[in-house]
Formats: sequence, C-alpha cells, structure tokens
Amino acid sequence: MTENAIEITGLRKTYAASAGEPPKEALKGIDLAIPQGSIFGLLGPNGAGKSTLINILAGLVLKTSGSVRIWGFDQDVNPRQSRASIGVMPQELNIDPFFTPRAALEVQAGLYGVPKSRRRTDEILRMIGLEDKAEAYARTLSGGMRRRLLLGKALVHRPPILVLDEPTAGVDIELRQMLWRNVRKLNAEGMTVILTTHYLEEAEDMCDEVAIINHGQVVARDRTAALLGRMDAKTLVVHGEDPAPADFPLPEGCTASRRPDGSIAIAYRRSRTSPEDILAAVRAAGIRLRDVATEEPDLQDVFLEITRARSGAA
Ligand code: ADP
Ligand code: MG
Repeated sequence: MTENAIEITGLRKTYAASAGEPPKEALKGIDLAIPQGSIFGLLGPNGAGKSTLINILAGLVLKTSGSVRIWGFDQDVNPRQSRASIGVMPQELNIDPFFTPRAALEVQAGLYGVPKSRRRTDEILRMIGLEDKAEAYARTLSGGMRRRLLLGKALVHRPPILVLDEPTAGVDIELRQMLWRNVRKLNAEGMTVILTTHYLEEAEDMCDEVAIINHGQVVARDRTAALLGRMDAKTLVVHGEDPAPADFPLPEGCTASRRPDGSIAIAYRRSRTSPEDILAAVRAAGIRLRDVATEEPDLQDVFLEITRARSGAA
C-alpha cells in the first residue's frame, strides 16, 4: 500500500468538439499526489478543470491520457477496486426523483455490491439528517436535502476516500456547518477527504494541503500554511495613541490606508522592505504606537498573486 490515497501522473483531458464548439483541452498534464488521511483542497476559478479531474477520479469521465491510481489501484488495470475505493459527491444535483432517500441509498449500495447484511442505510440517514424524510419522494426534497442525500450516496460502500465537488456552493450556513462537521468526523475516523471549492476561506479553514488549478494545470501545491507563508505580500497594522495621519513618508513600494477602527494598514513586500524600516517611518511621523500587528495574506491573495505571475509569464 502506498502512502498516497491518490496518485495522478500526466493526466490530460480533451473534450471532443460538439455542437459547433471546438475541442476543449480541460486538463493539460496534471501531476498530483494526495496523501492518505488528509483533508485536501482543490482550488481554482470556474472552468479551471476541477470537476473534470474529480469526474475522472469517479470514473464518470474518460481521461485522454495519463495514469490515475486510487488507493494504490491503477484505474486502467484494476477498475473495480479503484472505483470501490472512492466515493464522490458530484457538483450537480442529479437525483432520481422517483426514489425515496432510503431506496436511493439501497440502490447505490446494490450498485457497489454491498451485501444486505453489511448495508448501513439507517446509520447514513441519521448522519445526513434525513431520517424523517427516509420515505419521502426525492422530488419533494429541498436542494439542501438533495445535497445531503448525495453525500449519503457517496458513503454507502465505506470508501477510504471521499471526494466532494463544490459541496457548499449555494448552500445555507446550517447545511454548510453540518457538512463540515461530518467531513471533520469522517476524517478523524481515518477517511481521506478531497474537496473542491472556490471559497478560499473554506479551504483555509478546512484543508491541510491545497493545490491550485488554473487553465487545466496545477499552478501551486503545498501545505495550506506553507503556501500562505510563501507569500511576499504582507500587511503591518499600526494603532497609534492619537488619531494619526494616513499620509506620511513611507519606504518606497509601501502603501498605507486607514481602517474603520482608526488603525493604519501598511501593505509591503517582504522581499523589498523590512518591518523595521516601516516602524522607523511611523516613529519619524510622530506617531506614538499603542499596538502593532502583522497580517498574513489569505488564499485569495495567494491565488491572485500566483495567477497574475503565470499570466504575466505567458
Ligand atoms: P471547474 O469544475 O473547475 O469549474 P470544469 O472541469 O467543469 O471546471 O471545466 C473545465 C473546462 O472544460 C471548461 O472550459 C468547461 O467549459 C469544459 N468542459 C467541461 N465539461 C465539458 C464537456 N462535457 N464538454 C466540453 N467541454 C467541457
Ligand atoms: Mg466544477
């Protein structure tokens, strides 16, 4: 058994031309290893190729070339085992309207060859909070309930890897919290979780490691904290004893702005300016310091910096 839950090498996908649309190269050679036991975030703007990647993992989209190993099983060599090792909650709410949640879970378990004695339909219904709706027709379920049912369906065969494609896009806070509680619990029990999102805050909160995908390529991949630490952009926040002017001489390349709480936020580049030089300028302006803090960039900044650097280089 390898240490990686997923190993992707040289993965490419070109969608064939259709209805007057030219062929679309959605994945341009992805190499990615996702360690066992992690909560891994796949980030990127709309159209980056996240769902294409997920759907290839799920066996729903055929890759053009490259190799995919899931839980050590090569998708081409051991398709059954690799499929059994992964549960996917897709981005689209495609649910058969004529099944009840209980029936949908039973049918899914049947598809994965889970024997009746080893099914845990009631346990899953409880977990996704659909016990009361177990016998209701799916077409009467709300969007949030359908999403929960999709999570349940991804879990019927107890896969070691759970993949969630944009699980919280357009869902209310309550459902979001319920999803994250479940994800954290499953991960604590040993499940590897992979999620895609374009909510960077969410990835920041949830993910041990992230990969950023843009235009079908991985443009960054690191531990979430390390990715943030690698950033050059920083902010120094100065609280003065008295209301201080926001326009005073600063080292070149720094920009100051006043925050609603009266503090002054000074943006600078770590590679160019030291906080010491900024503080010297603050003192020279006659500002008496009450408090000073530095702020790390968030993933939004990371993403902008990385994608800007790439497009600049192209
Ligand atoms: P994401 O999930 O990151 O938003 P997708 O994987 O859905 O990105 O899409 C990546 C690119 O591939 C987009 O340009 C999209 O329009 C295109 N695409 C996705 N699915 C298909 C398809 N079935 N046929 C043709 N093009 C597709
Ligand atoms: Mg998508």
